[in-house]
Amino acid sequence: MSGGTGNLVGERAGPSPAIAGGLMRALTLVADRQIELRNIPAPAAPAEGEVQIHIKAIGLNHIDVWGWRGMAFAKRTLPLIVGVEAAGEIVGVGGGVNSCRVGDRVVAYGALTCGVCKACREGRDNLCENVASIMGFHVDGFARDLVNMPARLVEPIPAGVSFRDAACAPVAFGTVQHMLFDNAKLESGETILVQAGGSGIGSTAIKMAKAIGCTVITTVGDDAKAAKAKTIGADHVINYRTERFEGVVRKLTGKKGVDVAFEHVGPDTFNGSLLCLKRGGRLVTCGSTSGQSITMNLFQLYLQQYRIFGSFGCSLRNIRESLAKMAAGLLPVIDTDVRLDDFERGLARLESRQVFGKIIVTF
Ligand SMILES: [Zn+2]
Repeated sequence: MSGGTGNLVGERAGPSPAIAGGLMRALTLVADRQIELRNIPAPAAPAEGEVQIHIKAIGLNHIDVWGWRGMAFAKRTLPLIVGVEAAGEIVGVGGGVNSCRVGDRVVAYGALTCGVCKACREGRDNLCENVASIMGFHVDGFARDLVNMPARLVEPIPAGVSFRDAACAPVAFGTVQHMLFDNAKLESGETILVQAGGSGIGSTAIKMAKAIGCTVITTVGDDAKAAKAKTIGADHVINYRTERFEGVVRKLTGKKGVDVAFEHVGPDTFNGSLLCLKRGGRLVTCGSTSGQSITMNLFQLYLQQYRIFGSFGCSLRNIRESLAKMAAGLLPVIDTDVRLDDFERGLARLESRQVFGKIIVTF
């Protein structure tokens, strides 16, 4: 674990030495749980409205694990270049692009939204009515030396923020920013329960909630993670393997319950998270790593006046807000750095949940 400032891998400008003879590296999913590092033709110059990005760092997320394992409902064809969130440097600019220049450091928004529907026009990008696909999941993603992107889907990285930290903005930070502040409307002074505080988004939620002066209760699966959760600001840490978190939260809040529950674990914890809420409390969820379905007590739902928010992805504004937080010193918790050809080792580590914070892939 580190604050994420020390390692500036690939911070220098210029084309990657890996791009030779018109070929570039691309990490390609060829079958379920089978990724190959291939040499493929580099993209043509960026078209009208596009930029060409030299990718420097990629953040791993659970969506990468889902994609790697294979998902029956996902419409996609293999081989597929992996990598869902990334940071890099602009090395080419197509016609009509005035928003960025060669040499700019940027992150990319990996959902190919239409840019013209009502939701897109209103800045609610993750509610786009015509979203084509998620890069790295449905269509080719960012784990390659060069990628051409619509210029409207990139955001500049503020000075002083490394590629490695910025790579966590489009998915991990953006998702949490959207969950806590657009959906759950978390406010200073409130109490929040963050499930699985050792995960990439859990550790981000702890830091973002502490930064605005909330009381943070979090759950983790072992004592080593408990110590780490304290060092990043959690006020109370519950080892869910040795204690019933519902009972502990009840005690910690004087039987009142928390204002907000931050969920992404699913069936293993969802109803327990609801039980932890005070009357009128808000539960926000962006994932369900422990399964798909639950049975819910509807009496409890309306009598306690719970508000439940499903949240997926974020808007471009949320990415800007995330990068601004990083520039102000709120950095991602980095568990491990792996090299491009060790991408699968990173996924296996993420799947095993033996992580505290984010896994970053550098080129
Ligand atoms: Zn749209």
